[in-house]
Amino acid sequence: MNRFKAKSVVITGGASGIGAASARRFHAEGAAVVIADLNDELGTALANELGERALFQKTNVAEYDQVEVLMGTAVEAFGRLDVLFNNAGIGCFGLTPDLSVEDWRRVIAIDLDAVFFGCKAAIPYMRAVGGGAIVNTASISGSGADYAFTAYNAAKGGVINYTRALAIDHARENIRVNAISPGPISTAIIAQAKSVPAADQAWCDVVPMGRWGEPEEIAAIAAFLASDDASYMTGSIVTADGGLTAH
Ligand code: NAD
Repeated sequence: MNRFKAKSVVITGGASGIGAASARRFHAEGAAVVIADLNDELGTALANELGERALFQKTNVAEYDQVEVLMGTAVEAFGRLDVLFNNAGIGCFGLTPDLSVEDWRRVIAIDLDAVFFGCKAAIPYMRAVGGGAIVNTASISGSGADYAFTAYNAAKGGVINYTRALAIDHARENIRVNAISPGPISTAIIAQAKSVPAADQAWCDVVPMGRWGEPEEIAAIAAFLASDDASYMTGSIVTADGGLTAH
């Protein structure tokens, strides 16, 4: 498949996990890819691995100025911006009385504010080329709750409804906006849970498919949603969780 030939894609959180798998996927399908992340080492290595039509831009997505520079860099390097995958994210455990104000703000800033920042900075460039596609990484934790994970639950819930609202606002401009709600995916963000055999098994026990998802399985959905194959999809929240929330 060559669905993104001559197109340019920005992926936040692109150095690791779902973002890295997506950078490989979009690039393999012909896209010029800008990997945006805080992690220089992994981001640079991935851009080098992909070679031509790939670059790493160190970006803190929680800082609007840096996000503006990111989108400008993509357009300067590749002439246009067609797809934004807002995927960077962090989690934070703690019951509300124990959660610091700083922790709460950090999670909301990276998981929710940054999605708005990315869209705000990217949409003018998409308008300039007659349309585009935005994909946001939400989570099944955005529509159901987890124990001691309130900031993340709140942020991802925000991403889900922001996605729907933004889709309506820009539907007539040929800018489609969708989100993916992954279940447990085998990446660095959950490495701690996976490293404890009992916790690892507990997750596998509750997932009807009996296993963690792989980042490539989410990357395939991101590429689908960003492609013309999803041309009549906007405001959709696509769940990929091995059946976990089907109960
Ligand atoms: P990951 O930790 O492998 O990747 C997250 C990336 O985001 C990292 O490369 C990290 O450096 C980057 N990042 C963090 N803060 C940043 C910031 N301020 N600016 C720029 N980059 C930043 O984890 P992942 O599982 O691939 O996570 C990707 C997305 O998927 C996140 O939004 C996460 O919430 C979501 N998600 C993950 C799971 C799962 O089980 N892995 C489930 C549901 C949703």
